[in-house]
Amino acid sequence: MANIDIKRANKMINRRPVFSVILMIFISILIFASIAMVYFIFGEYSIQLKLANEVDSISELYSGNNDLFSLISRSSKDYFITDPSGNIISGNTDNTADLSKHPLDMDYFFIKGRPEYQIYSDKNSDFLITSDNDNDVIINVFDLMDFDKVAIQYRSGKSTEIPYWICYPAEDGTTVYIKSNLAFRSGDLIFILALSITLSITMILIMLAILIFGINNIRYRKDLQKLLFMDRISGGHNWSWFLINASKLLSRRKNLNNGYAVINLVFVKYRYFVLCHSSSEGEKMLREVYLTILKNIGPRDLASHSTEAHFPILMRYDSEEGLRQKVQNIISQLESIDTDHKFGFQAGIDLIPPQTARVRRSLDLDIIYNNASAARMQLDMSEESGIAFYDNDLLEQHKWIDLVTEKQRDAIDKEEFIVYYQPKYNPNTNQLQGAEALIRWQNEELGFVSPGRFIPIFESSGFITEIDHYMLSHVARDQAKWLSQGFKIVPVSVNVSRAHFIEDDLAEQIRDICLEANCPAEYIEIEVTESAFFDDKNKMIETIRKLQSYGFSVSMDDFGSGYSSLNSLKDLPLNILKLDAGFFAEGDDDDRSKVVVSEALKLAKSLNMKTVAEGIEDKVQVDFLAREGCDMIQGYYFAKPMPASDYESRMAQETIPGSEA
Ligand code: C2E
Ligand code: MG
Ligand code: MG
Repeated sequence: MANIDIKRANKMINRRPVFSVILMIFISILIFASIAMVYFIFGEYSIQLKLANEVDSISELYSGNNDLFSLISRSSKDYFITDPSGNIISGNTDNTADLSKHPLDMDYFFIKGRPEYQIYSDKNSDFLITSDNDNDVIINVFDLMDFDKVAIQYRSGKSTEIPYWICYPAEDGTTVYIKSNLAFRSGDLIFILALSITLSITMILIMLAILIFGINNIRYRKDLQKLLFMDRISGGHNWSWFLINASKLLSRRKNLNNGYAVINLVFVKYRYFVLCHSSSEGEKMLREVYLTILKNIGPRDLASHSTEAHFPILMRYDSEEGLRQKVQNIISQLESIDTDHKFGFQAGIDLIPPQTARVRRSLDLDIIYNNASAARMQLDMSEESGIAFYDNDLLEQHKWIDLVTEKQRDAIDKEEFIVYYQPKYNPNTNQLQGAEALIRWQNEELGFVSPGRFIPIFESSGFITEIDHYMLSHVARDQAKWLSQGFKIVPVSVNVSRAHFIEDDLAEQIRDICLEANCPAEYIEIEVTESAFFDDKNKMIETIRKLQSYGFSVSMDDFGSGYSSLNSLKDLPLNILKLDAGFFAEGDDDDRSKVVVSEALKLAKSLNMKTVAEGIEDKVQVDFLAREGCDMIQGYYFAKPMPASDYESRMAQETIPGSEA
């Protein structure tokens, strides 16, 4: 979810400047256009209007009057008439119009007021009207082809007149030219100047506003990008940046010959380093690590700093071996940052082999990075540097973990976990002496799941404590029920996980569960594995003592498996010792195992502990254990773990079915 938000935010940031630029250009064009329009409408209006007025007034004289000449002469205007070939056939003045330059279909044009000046035409020249210090009107007529050149300059007192010719082509092919004047006053000039200045200032202000908006926008975008993508600790980029840029890189159109490796690189002893030094020293180290990674990856590879001491990397690779060497080189460089501390760096790698752009685009980088992390987690047990590649088994394993984690809560609510009971018998008397409660999971979709497939997952997620409660309360309820039904019940042992033993009030929790179920404590035995002892010896001793004071017995499960230590036997005030099935597994050196088992049994005896042998599958083992004085046997030889109903019959029989009491 968060990644989708980041991607969306990034898109928005990147879209903003494009929008702003387009908006700025659009607004500028709009402003320019409207200013130009207003300017021309108002600026030229006076000239155009005046010209039009003049043309109209002369047209009035001309139209509908046959006695043109008398009319023209009465109007006291200068005129002349030309035949179709341009020769003057009549008139009261010379032709001062530059007929060569102007087509006859033009409404008007200026005469050669003075012979040294060019003639104004609205096709190839333009006005500039200014004023001098005395407020005299000056009209500069420029040549449009050459703006530096003032074609005509008219200057007068407070006003000026521009003479021009108006021509009327007649139907018989003759053309009448009438001379008129265009008058300008200083009022016109002030109006045009004021308008120009106002519009120019407005334009500048608007441009300034747009510019400020643009600059602020760019700044805002940069700040936002920093906030989203900068990693405060390393000073480099963060996970979001990596995700976006690596996805971009992977979705490039080009089909590549090389593959990509997504790497989860971890600074293993980072926490330890921070504890021994300080947070700021730690952050300094992370910066160093980040910079060293950057220095040692290719120019087009990507690296960032994500959480705590994790560094996601995206690297091109040609061969797996070549990649391994490159990563090894990075790790060596990182190790040499501080040789005094012997830092460890572990890299988990998931490979994206050469694929078409389309396939690459469909990849979910989040999942690939998770795979790389999962590969790296294989190295978790050791603090040494190392490299691990992700494979399909690991993928399946992680899918399974996800599935179990997703279903665990429902499974408790729907009581999908079932208690199985595995009887423990006295090998000498064949009498039922106890049982172990073992969990089974019956799920509609997953079917029957054995504890080996989900208990380790619950242990690492911490959900195991809920399972322990669930099992204990179910066993306590069963025992109380059987007691009230008159069964000759025996103690049932319940496994309590190592993770649970760190809770201060574990003994009280167990006591309360049994009290609530009305089950006397003497019928419940608590099994704990030896490994719990290594977490906090004193706390474990305290909890065991408390449990015993409430009437429970406590057994050490799986003794002899893993790192057994006789010290734990010496220090822990246990009631029962359960010898691990491993002692009796086939293939081990039988004689040596026998010696160890027999000595362990003796040791337990002398420490006043009862003994249980687990995983006993054949008669020879039973006979041996009976001889050696083992108190109870739990194994397939006598009984497999069974549902409560079957166990009820075992209780009713009291001894091993088929044996003599
Ligand atoms: P464990 O506590 O050591 O339980 C003994 C395991 O050995 C059981 O496996 C049992 O079925 C098996 N077993 C007993 N006799 C024989 C035999 O003769 N041959 C063979 N091959 N196996 C035998 P299970 O039930 O699969 O349980 C495995 C482990 O799962 C248990 O080892 C225990 O550590 C854990 N577990 C089971 N139920 C619970 C539970 O309710 N809570 C917790 N915390 N852990 C449990
Ligand atoms: Mg057990
Ligand atoms: Mg065991």
